[in-house]
Amino acid sequence: MSAASLRLLSKTKQTARIIIVGAGSAGIAAATRLLEQGFRNVLLLEAEDRIGGRIHTIPFADNVVDLGAQWCHGEQGNVVYQRVKDQNMLEATEPHYDNFKCVRSNGEVLPEAIAEPLKTIAFNSIPERQTDLGSYDGSLGDYLDMKYWKELAKLPPIDRTIAEEFLEVFHKFEASVEAADHLYEVSGRGHLEYWLCEGELLLNWRQKGYKQFLRVLMKAQDAQPEDLGVLKGHVLLNKRIAEINWEGADELKIRCWNGEIHTADHVICTVSLGVLKEQHRNLFVPNLPAAKVRAIDGLKLGTVDKFFLEFTAPPLPEDWPGFNCLWLKKDLDELRGSELFWLESVFGFYPVSHQPRILQGWIIGAHARHMETLTEETVLQGLLWLFRKFLPFDVAPPQRFLRTQWHANPNFRGSYTFRSTYTDELRTGAWDLEAPLMDVGGRPRLQFAGESSHKHYYSTVHGAVETGWREAERLNVYYKARTAQL
Ligand SMILES: Cc1cc2nc3c(=O)[nH]c(=O)nc-3n(C[C@H](O)[C@H](O)[C@H](O)COP(=O)(O)OP(=O)(O)OC[C@H]3O[C@@H](n4cnc5c(N)ncnc54)[C@H](O)[C@@H]3O)c2cc1C
Repeated sequence: MSAASLRLLSKTKQTARIIIVGAGSAGIAAATRLLEQGFRNVLLLEAEDRIGGRIHTIPFADNVVDLGAQWCHGEQGNVVYQRVKDQNMLEATEPHYDNFKCVRSNGEVLPEAIAEPLKTIAFNSIPERQTDLGSYDGSLGDYLDMKYWKELAKLPPIDRTIAEEFLEVFHKFEASVEAADHLYEVSGRGHLEYWLCEGELLLNWRQKGYKQFLRVLMKAQDAQPEDLGVLKGHVLLNKRIAEINWEGADELKIRCWNGEIHTADHVICTVSLGVLKEQHRNLFVPNLPAAKVRAIDGLKLGTVDKFFLEFTAPPLPEDWPGFNCLWLKKDLDELRGSELFWLESVFGFYPVSHQPRILQGWIIGAHARHMETLTEETVLQGLLWLFRKFLPFDVAPPQRFLRTQWHANPNFRGSYTFRSTYTDELRTGAWDLEAPLMDVGGRPRLQFAGESSHKHYYSTVHGAVETGWREAERLNVYYKARTAQL
């Protein structure tokens, strides 16, 4: 047996060195769980100057806003909900995302008698676990269109132009749920891999934001927002990893962009699928095995960005719980020929819970990526133009504005993941991304966690947390078995 193998075999939970790349939900979940299990040498290396990753709560207007994850999606089987359910931290969000007004680009507001049945049909056309999709080869977009028109034909006639305009904006809304550029790239069958947790689907964190959950995971007691709780001394910020060398059987070498080298017996990589797609060929030495690369290529993530506008007073009339933008064809043709073309993918604006002076808007896909390249002022002027075009009342300019740039940031390169028709073609999935790279003795060396590696709860925080726990448990099981052998 080589000296390296002997050295590694002598490792215990107390001496094994574990480096976790990325201090988002998955990384924090893995680190806190490892410490609970008795591992001592746990180090999180994070590229940003903050922890949280795609959980990013910042002070704004009357309390905070979430630039990334905002809601706990569901209750049953949701580890986030289960962890905090007795602590009165979560509450159901007002039904803004059901009650919104449908406004056309000529300022006409659809009467409820028309908007309501269109919403009902569209929402019901999105399959959850319907079995008729199990053998469906097409995209989610094709499936939605087919169902929508079939169900609409059963109702008293609704103007076809309006039904088309509504379907268009519903596509964008649903694409934001998937984080796809459009629904024709989302796999109909693959969509069923996602499991909805029963219960309230939009639970908000009151005035505290999603960051509150990370504080629970870390057992942060201190009122200071920077308190790392049990992770104190286990996190290094501003450490962007340039290379993870997992060659051979001995320790792994991790090189930061500033040249600093760290060594470890195990590495858990939690960077986003966007980062893996862009960097895996340089990030890993040697290159990752074919199955892993296939998963990185085949799984997809898209861009969903948010806008937050803070006004001096509530900007919408009291009976307006938000609105969606329905484009008339002639207006859309005109827009597409102008420099404001990116506004086509801004699909709606809604109030934010506990923030009466804020409007939150959404944009998806390629137009979101273009928007990220514009100046904040240009983006704001575009949105104000949109308000003037659509709304039958004036909206005063906001006193503060911000937008997210999840794709432009090299530490994310997108928002969250979905299963595309290309994923189906490559016959790959989260199982390939999850699979750890072991040495010949079955010791995990390079492990993968993060939302994209969850088979059913991908694209969520609860999914990311479970993957962190999964990889911590993998090491726990390995070391327990080793101790039993000694
Ligand atoms: C706009 C938006 C809205 C969302 N809304 C919701 C929601 O309402 N509810 C919900 O459940 N989920 C939501 N999500 C998804 C949720 O935020 C993610 O699924 C989850 O936070 C992902 O956690 P993670 O640990 O897998 O990845 P990340 O949070 O991305 O963590 C990975 C970490 O790795 C770091 N990193 C990257 N590259 C390097 C490198 N080279 N070296 C070192 N560190 C690196 C990153 O900076 C990051 O901190 C939303 C996401 C977005 C973007």
